[in-house]
Amino acid sequence: MASHNLAHITIDDLDIIGYSVAGEETVIAVPQLDVCFDIGKAPDQCVPINHVLLTHGHMDHAAGIAYHLSHRQFCGQAQGTVLTPPSTIESIRQILDAWGRLDGSRIPANLVPARPGDEYRIKPNLIARVFPTKHTHDAVGYCVIEHRKKLKPEYDGLSGPELVTLKKQGVTIDNPVEIPLVTYLGDTQYVDFSQLDYIKNSKILIAECTFFEDEHTERADAGRHMHIDEFAPLLERMNNQHIIITHLSRRTGVGQAKQLLRNALSKETHRKVTVLMDRKNLTPQTG
Ligand SMILES: [Zn+2]
Ligand SMILES: [Zn+2]
Repeated sequence: MASHNLAHITIDDLDIIGYSVAGEETVIAVPQLDVCFDIGKAPDQCVPINHVLLTHGHMDHAAGIAYHLSHRQFCGQAQGTVLTPPSTIESIRQILDAWGRLDGSRIPANLVPARPGDEYRIKPNLIARVFPTKHTHDAVGYCVIEHRKKLKPEYDGLSGPELVTLKKQGVTIDNPVEIPLVTYLGDTQYVDFSQLDYIKNSKILIAECTFFEDEHTERADAGRHMHIDEFAPLLERMNNQHIIITHLSRRTGVGQAKQLLRNALSKETHRKVTVLMDRKNLTPQTG
């Protein structure tokens, strides 16, 4: 039996599996992209995933990092890679060293500092781009971007052999294009993310909204989280096809949050939205 009962959303050829409750745990894996956004308490389902993209060092997002890396070794997996803000590297290193001493064997890890603007290659055609958020002082978010080649319009309609001939002559027949697949904001207070095209146009947006009640506006500012009053208008400016909402607090039930989202969003935007921890995304655990 798996350690966690995770929510599961399938969007075309991608599975989004995860758990997210503010202050408790947040972990969201996309196995086909070989990435896990934050690690929460290290669910078993994330063991085969080679890249953890940490947004910041808060316990609810990072507590399981040593267990995850160690358990991968136990299961015969190669050393894992962790992208994480520069200020967290030394502390994570110390945690890994301490657990390594307690456990009697060193925990292998490739710790990579993630600074805004950095790009990290996950697969030959896939990169993770780092962007700044507003939470801890160097908190970041990630966009996983696929690189594809698109035939230049002037060669549209040519046959396969004709294209091969052009290629043999050294003609560049295609342009590189970027397809932003999944963007994960992590924890953040309001930032106008629609200003960055690759976030605005990302096929899937995974975004936090922690506060929903009117009287919680100040709490949202103090904790550097998103409040629905800013979040809803932001979503109206985005072009994402699917929006997954995470990091609800226990103060607001999922049913209540869904109602408030329905009231706050246009019909068109509301159709794209799902709350990760909605019961419909959680399957009863068996086995
Ligand atoms: Zn959090
Ligand atoms: Zn946090």
